[in-house]
Amino acid sequence: MRVELVAWTTFDTHAAELASEMEYHPRDDRAQELIEFAGRQCYRSWGRPNQATATNEGYLEHIIEVGHLSVLEHGSATFHVGHVSRSLTHELIRHRHLSYSQLSQRFVVAKNTGDFVVPPLFSGNEAALNRLERAWYSALDIYDELLAIAEDMPETKRKEAREAARAVLPNMTPTDIVVTGNHRAWREMLMKRGTAEADAEICALAVEILGHLKGLEPNVYADLDTVRTDTGRTIIVQGSQKPGKAVAGPLGTSIQTNARGTAVVGSGGSVDRFEVTTVHKTIKDPHLYKGTP
Ligand SMILES: Cc1cc2nc3c(=O)[nH]c(=O)nc-3n(C[C@H](O)[C@H](O)[C@H](O)COP(=O)(O)OP(=O)(O)OC[C@H]3O[C@@H](n4cnc5c(N)ncnc54)[C@H](O)[C@@H]3O)c2cc1C
Repeated sequence: MRVELVAWTTFDTHAAELASEMEYHPRDDRAQELIEFAGRQCYRSWGRPNQATATNEGYLEHIIEVGHLSVLEHGSATFHVGHVSRSLTHELIRHRHLSYSQLSQRFVVAKNTGDFVVPPLFSGNEAALNRLERAWYSALDIYDELLAIAEDMPETKRKEAREAARAVLPNMTPTDIVVTGNHRAWREMLMKRGTAEADAEICALAVEILGHLKGLEPNVYADLDTVRTDTGRTIIVQGSQKPGKAVAGPLGTSIQTNARGTAVVGSGGSVDRFEVTTVHKTIKDPHLYKGTP
C-alpha cells in the first residue's frame, strides 16, 4: 500500500480579512482556519468573543462536539492510493461523499498493474503466500490466453478484449485510485473503516490516511486517535485524548484515558491495556502564514 497526500485546501487569509472588512484575522492558511472563518461568519463572531472557543483547537472541538459538521465540508484533501486490492477499492467507493478516479482494467493490461496484494492476515505466511502466488499467476496465464482468443476474433478492440478477460482477475488484483474528500466525508470514512470489524486492509488504509490528515489539519482530527488492539491490529478511536472521557471502542468495549494518556479498554468487567499509537505524519508544510498584508 502506498498512500500519498497529493493536494489539499489552502486558505487565502488576506482575502478572508478583506471579506470580513478587516474584522477577522486568520492565524494561518490551513483548511481548519477556513472552517473557523466559515463558522464565524454565520454569527459574525469575528472577534472570538467566547474564551472556550477562542483558539482554533477549541473552536473545532466545539463544532465536532455539537455536530455542526457541515462547516468541515469547506476543506478537502486528495490522496493517491497505490497498490491496494480491488476488494479494498470496492469497499472504499461505497463512501458516497468521496470522489474517485481509478485505474481502468479496460485500458491497462493486468500484468502492468503490479504484483498481487497480500491480505494482511497472510503477510509473512509462507504457506499462504505460496497459494496466493499460484492463484495469481494461473489467473494471469488464463487472462493472457483469453486476450489472445479475443484478439483473434474479427473486429474486437483491445479494450473489449481486456474488459472480457478481466473476468478471471481475483480480488487481490492491485489497483491505484485517486480519492478526494472534504473533511466531513473523510471523518465519516475513517470512523467506519478504521475499526476492528472492518476488513484489515481498508482498516490499515484508514489508519494511514488519518496519520496524514492529523498532520495536515490537526484540529479537525484532534479527537481521532489510533490504538493497537491485542490482536495486533491498529484501529481508530474517537476521544481517547480526553483524560477521563469514555468513548466507544471496538466490539462494544469502551475506552477511557488515564492521566498518562494510556487508553484502557473494558469489556464485561475485564480491563485490558491498549497502547495509544497516535500517527502523525510529517508533511511538507505550505501553511506558513505570510503575515497580514
Ligand atoms: C464493517 C463493515 C461491514 C460492511 N459490510 C457490508 C456488507 O456485508 N454488504 C454491503 O453491501 N455493505 C457493507 N458495508 C458497507 C456499508 O453498508 C456502507 O455502504 C458503507 O460503510 C458506506 O457507509 P454509509 O452508506 O453509511 O456512508 P457514506 O456513503 O460514506 O455516506 C455518509 C453518510 O451520509 C448519509 N447519506 C449518504 N447517502 C445517503 C442517502 N442516499 N440517503 C440518506 N443519507 C445518506 C448517511 O448518514 C451516511 O452515513 C460494510 C461496512 C462496514 C464498515
